[in-house]
Amino acid sequence: MVQNSGPRPLILCGPSGSGKSTLLVRLLNDFPNTFGFSVSHTTRKPRPGEQSGVHYHFTTKEEMTAAIERGEFIENAVFSGNMYGTSYKSVANVQNAGKVCVLDIDMEGVKQIRKTDLNPITVFIKPPSLDELEKRLRSRGTETEETLTKRLNVARKEMEYGETPGNFHYVIVNDNLDKAYEVLKEAVVSEIKKQQSDGVIIKFD
Ligand code: ADP
Ligand code: 5GP
Repeated sequence: MVQNSGPRPLILCGPSGSGKSTLLVRLLNDFPNTFGFSVSHTTRKPRPGEQSGVHYHFTTKEEMTAAIERGEFIENAVFSGNMYGTSYKSVANVQNAGKVCVLDIDMEGVKQIRKTDLNPITVFIKPPSLDELEKRLRSRGTETEETLTKRLNVARKEMEYGETPGNFHYVIVNDNLDKAYEVLKEAVVSEIKKQQSDGVIIKFD
């Protein structure tokens, strides 16, 4: 099952469109031996290019509800009308490969994980402004007017939560992507070094 003794998991949270996936892909590509992505379950429809088992485990409301009732999920939430959740198995798969487990989850998921003994390092990815967030979501081309409005409405609450002192270890503004990535990398590397000096084995090359 899920380990509490190995490397601390890394959580990226932030409004939809703030750049979490873009930053995570860079981190995972730069350090494939160090980090592994926790593949969540969701009931939302796949976007073009998204593969089941890679980006998400795409599932139905019925199947996911049943799996939650069986106790298979560490956390789950409804976001913009769809269910999302992290299964114990997804986290264990990454941990068993000896990697730092990286989670991309919403604010409600973060609150639930805080109550477990996973002891994650938490990072909030903040857009430069809500106007810029809307522009990025529109230019990503994945949303309808309806889903865009829902995501922007949630974004206001998420920004408030992200900006509240003490809620996240790091708050990174994703204005310039290269700069935001450098700040994220530096934060994560320093956390890994701290753990290594405490005797935790983490592959880092
Ligand atoms: P999230 O995973 O948080 O929903 P994405 O990583 O999908 O967000 O980013 C949303 C959109 O914004 C994508 O089209 C991405 O290419 C773009 N994007 C990400 N970071 C920046 C940035 N710093 N400047 C401009 N566009 C960005
Ligand atoms: P998207 O539909 O854009 O991929 O994701 C929408 C939101 O759901 C994002 O904020 C993302 O972080 C969140 N999310 C993705 N997977 C999970 C999960 O397993 N649990 C929770 N709570 N949120 C998730």
